[in-house]
Amino acid sequence: MRECIIVRYGEISLKGGNRSAFERRLVHNIRDHLWEFPALKVVRQSGRIVIEVDDANADDVLSRVANVFGVYSVSRAVIVQQNLDDMTQAAIALLRTRRESLLQEVAQVGGLTFKIAAKRADKMFELSTPQLNEELGARILEQYEGTKVDVHEPLAIVYVEVREDGAYIYLDKQSAVGGMPVGSAGRVGLLLSGGIDSPVAGWLSLKRGVELEAIHFHSYPFTSERALQKVETLAGILANWGGSVRLHTVGFTEVQSEIRKHCPDSLSVTVMRRMMLRIAEGIALSREWQALVTGESLGQVASQTLESIRTINDVTRMPILRPLISEDKVDIIRRARQIGTYETSILPYEDCCTVFLPKRPRTRPTIAEAEQAEETLDVDELVNKAVLNTEMKTFLANRGLNS
Ligand code: ATP
Ligand code: MG
Repeated sequence: MRECIIVRYGEISLKGGNRSAFERRLVHNIRDHLWEFPALKVVRQSGRIVIEVDDANADDVLSRVANVFGVYSVSRAVIVQQNLDDMTQAAIALLRTRRESLLQEVAQVGGLTFKIAAKRADKMFELSTPQLNEELGARILEQYEGTKVDVHEPLAIVYVEVREDGAYIYLDKQSAVGGMPVGSAGRVGLLLSGGIDSPVAGWLSLKRGVELEAIHFHSYPFTSERALQKVETLAGILANWGGSVRLHTVGFTEVQSEIRKHCPDSLSVTVMRRMMLRIAEGIALSREWQALVTGESLGQVASQTLESIRTINDVTRMPILRPLISEDKVDIIRRARQIGTYETSILPYEDCCTVFLPKRPRTRPTIAEAEQAEETLDVDELVNKAVLNTEMKTFLANRGLNS
């Protein structure tokens, strides 16, 4: 008897001609997430992926694979010979373990209820699917006391897939993270602050298959070394999901002090955001990103009114993706907890935006007002300098910092 993990993918099978490239990418990403198990074989098998495992690593492999974007569901299965005796024995062994975890429910319905869901992928197999359902069900009832068939609401479904290389038998289809394989949808640059929102926005972009790089603006020495470390930790967590994340850190101190010198206090946040976008665009062009991503959510703070977003957006022609635009904060927080960024995001270190927060920021700045506020600011010079004054580090999944 062999054991394996069956990996199913949904959306990518819809992609017609691209399908094969998508599948190859997914296999590559799964291997990457399983880098600690180099001996495992990850094999494509007619519309799904199969990974042979053993008892010692099966659960670990299952939970890692369930977190690879593009994977829709996973099952831990046993593979036996294509004969009814072996299939029956394997099904009974699985049902026995299931009974132990469902003692109460079994007592309630007066037995372990089950149904067989068979599928015959190997058309050479002698029984038809309905025959297989019936024959296996009968044998289990006969050989394992205390079981009952219930096709409507069974406590366990025994899935049986007869394939050329053997019969795959399992009880569960566990849903996985879903989305598209990272690397199948181009490359974007995430504006990554140390807050709660932008890491979630980055995660949602990864989920749609883009490769992610990140930009962080810091105002050392007004912001601390620890604030920067926090952002590096966040980049590392995103890399665990997305394979690798390059983090570009931009020294923003000079820009901020120039804004303080030249621009009215009430518009400093607007101008600062416009400068961030200009610099991000500069980096984006040299790195061939197709879009920028932010954690903005409509109406959440003063700089995220529609008027403000429009005025800030006016400085660039790059597409800006805002995956959280219509999300409520409670939902964003729930997601942050789920993906593992929340605990880091709430560490109390100062961000460059909070250091210079004006007393009364304009909540509806117009483009004309912003342009006027920037009149004596040497925008091009500051942007060029900031783009050059950027440091880059690469984070790899579960391996931390690479360079
Ligand atoms: P977050 O929780 O992501 O910090 P926020 O609700 O605090 O978002 P803002 O501080 O207004 O909102 O920032 C809006 C967006 O601008 C952020 O989601 C992020 O994409 C970007 N941003 C803000 N500060 C920085 C920074 N220091 N470096 C890079 N991007 C930033
Ligand atoms: Mg913030």
